[in-house]
Parts: sequence; structure tokens; C-alpha cells
Amino acid sequence: MIAECLGLDASSYHVKQEQEEEDELIYKRTQISDAEKYRDADGLSVKCPSCGTANEITGIFSGDISSMGEDVRCAMACVSCAKAMPPAFLCNTLTLLIRAAITKYYQGWLLCDEQACRNRTRYVSVCGRRCSVPYCRGTMSPEYSAHQLFTQLAYYQYLFDLPLLLKKSPSAATSAGNNAMSRDGVERITSSFKDDISRVHAHVTTFIQKNARTYVDLAQLFGSLTMAINAPKMAPGAH
Ligand SMILES: [Zn+2]
Ligand SMILES: [Zn+2]
Repeated sequence: MIAECLGLDASSYHVKQEQEEEDELIYKRTQISDAEKYRDADGLSVKCPSCGTANEITGIFSGDISSMGEDVRCAMACVSCAKAMPPAFLCNTLTLLIRAAITKYYQGWLLCDEQACRNRTRYVSVCGRRCSVPYCRGTMSPEYSAHQLFTQLAYYQYLFDLPLLLKKSPSAATSAGNNAMSRDGVERITSSFKDDISRVHAHVTTFIQKNARTYVDLAQLFGSLTMAINAPKMAPGAH
């Protein structure tokens, strides 16, 4: 479970409440396609440092992969000027995005599920998850749930997971008539970017693990509820 690996599951009151539902959801999600799995994750848009073009990174490749046309390239190269984007630049961009996602989660905003109400607060009512607005019968749920955070972080890892892509790609012999790119094709297109891709992937993985440990320690120190309320002041210090 990603939740357990990150150690974030025990660190906040609303995580505990949703743990079982989420575990089940995460389990189910491993059975479905990647596109479906990461449907709710924010996309990764990177501005090329050479020409300023916004590159929407949706995986190891850019271009029309289903047709395996000439325009399929490694996403490490800019779609406009074709220059390789430096891995250090991509690492920095991802660091900022991951920090922002963790901060958003730890701000712990709760949202009322009653459409007519949509009460938004960071304080838990004395009646548990019930909305505190008079006469409202809604339930308060995390605006940015642990599941959303895990999905987002897992998505950033997934985008640069070349070994996983190679494992999933059919061998050349079986890929005929199939829309997936063959293993040979993947290796050919990524050949000059292999090290850069694995550097970015390792950076994302290490960053997530390092920060997860920090938050676990804080949670143990302050107790879960204090953690959820005070966390926004701590989150920007994540590194
Ligand atoms: Zn460019
Ligand atoms: Zn309400």
C-alpha cells in the first residue's frame, strides 16, 4: 500500500476515518488501467527552459503513441525545440509540485457534501463529521483527501518509471496489430535519455520517502488532531 509506505496514514484524524475505504479503493485501482488510475491526478506541465513552450508530460513519450507515428518522442525532449530538458530542472519542478500537494493535504480543509451548503472549514465539529452549519444535514469530508495526495505522488513517480513501462510493453513479436509500443521501440526512443529519466524517477521516490518520515515523526510528537490543525505552518519547511 502506498499509504503505508509513506507512513502518512496514521498522521491525521481524517485519514484514520477513511483508511478502510481508501485501502479498498487503492486495491481496486491497482486492477484497472493506468489512465483510469491516475484520472484525478493533476497533469504535469513543464515550461521548456530553452524556448518557454509548455510541455504537458503524460508519460515517458510525447506524440501520438497509439499510431506509433513519426512524432513519437521521448518526453524528456521539448515538443517544440526538441532540446533535452535538464534532469535537475525537472527535479526542481517536481519538488515544488510535491511540496505544494503535501501542504494542500496538511491544510486539512473539510468540505460539506451538501450541494446547497458547501461549508468549508478547517475545524472539526464536536459532532464528528457532521456539518456545523445550523440545519444542514451534510457530512464534512476532506477537500483534498489522503487518497488524492497518494494518487498525485504516485502519478509523478509513474510518469518517469521506465522499468515499469518496459515491463508492460509487449515484445516486438507480439506487438503487431496492438496499439502498445514494443519493448524494442521503447528502448530505441529512450536510449539517450535513460539516465536522465531514472535520475528524475529516483529524485521523486527519495523526496517522497524522506518527507513521509518527517511527517510521521511530527505526528507522533504532537498527536493526530494537533497535527492536522498546526500542519500548514510546518508543511512549507518540507525538503
Ligand atoms: Zn523547448
Ligand atoms: Zn453543510
